[in-house]
Amino acid sequence: MEPPVKRNRIDDSINSITIKNQTGIDNLIDSIINSKNQPQIILGDEYYQTLPLIKVFIGHVKQPKDISKLFEILNEKLPLKHLLHLKRVRKKDILLSPVSFLNSDTQESIQEYIERNIPEIKDCFEYFREATVPLTPPLTRKQYMENLRHWSLNFHPNHYIETIMSDQPFKQSEARNHRIYMALTFEIVKWYFNIKSYEDILQSDFNAAVVVDPTINSVVTLAVDNRHEHPLQHPAMLAIDNVAKTQEGGVWKIDIDDTLKEDLKEKFKIQYGTRSGTAESPYLCTGYYVYLLREPCIMCSMGLVHARAKKIFFSLDTPLGGLKSKTKLQCIESLNHCFEVFTGFL
Ligand SMILES: [Zn+2]
Repeated sequence: MEPPVKRNRIDDSINSITIKNQTGIDNLIDSIINSKNQPQIILGDEYYQTLPLIKVFIGHVKQPKDISKLFEILNEKLPLKHLLHLKRVRKKDILLSPVSFLNSDTQESIQEYIERNIPEIKDCFEYFREATVPLTPPLTRKQYMENLRHWSLNFHPNHYIETIMSDQPFKQSEARNHRIYMALTFEIVKWYFNIKSYEDILQSDFNAAVVVDPTINSVVTLAVDNRHEHPLQHPAMLAIDNVAKTQEGGVWKIDIDDTLKEDLKEKFKIQYGTRSGTAESPYLCTGYYVYLLREPCIMCSMGLVHARAKKIFFSLDTPLGGLKSKTKLQCIESLNHCFEVFTGFL
């Protein structure tokens, strides 16, 4: 009998990519709608990175009964200041100070420093050692758990961040809505540019935008790439202009084909409408969700900031994208508005 064929994981993954690329556009759109995976948020790098470490001195206490006294004296005479995320005591170990705290020119040891400056505790330690501990506080439970091996940490989980970073940030019904609206962007590009497969999508740079008012679960506007006619008419810019038109603004006279709009309404069971003109009329895209097939460029990302969009969703990264690839505009705190960004539809 021949030995079982050893499966080659690399070949498998290449095959699966090839198969996916050859997927017909309609199958791709179906898979976007029916996927069980939820969109994933894109936060600042600080939420994903390994925490930077710093070297500190640790004193191993001779007598456990001295710990509370040492704790008080050290907090007064050798406060941790910027390291308040670190617990001072772990079992018989006490965190004394960063190694950099001692003057490296004098080459004074931590023992000599204590004898000279805090003589009342100089005999309390069995030995001193150096350890590495996180320099900055953990922002997520994952970072917290990863760093406990270094030292005990104070951590107050941000429940919103923990939920939004989880595998299931949305209710099932919300997640399905996000998928349907994202599928619209593919359907629009398919209709306008004769796209037949996922590979056609990958080999083009066409984009489309769908703006939704989530409070009434209604499509406010749709837009498709018109860069071949006008260099500024990226779909996000057109979509913002279209929203402005619902609020007695806007300058461009371009709209999505009416037949396509009707087809989309029927196929995806969506509704069109806006609260503009009512007492609840929003300012530009305030509270709106914007769905883009591709990550918007920096100009469009900035336009979406100015338009006050609430959440942005996109499927494919773009090399000069403003929300993930080139920069993350949503993480620049000095901007006067901030939105959340999600991807992970494919
Ligand atoms: Zn753009």
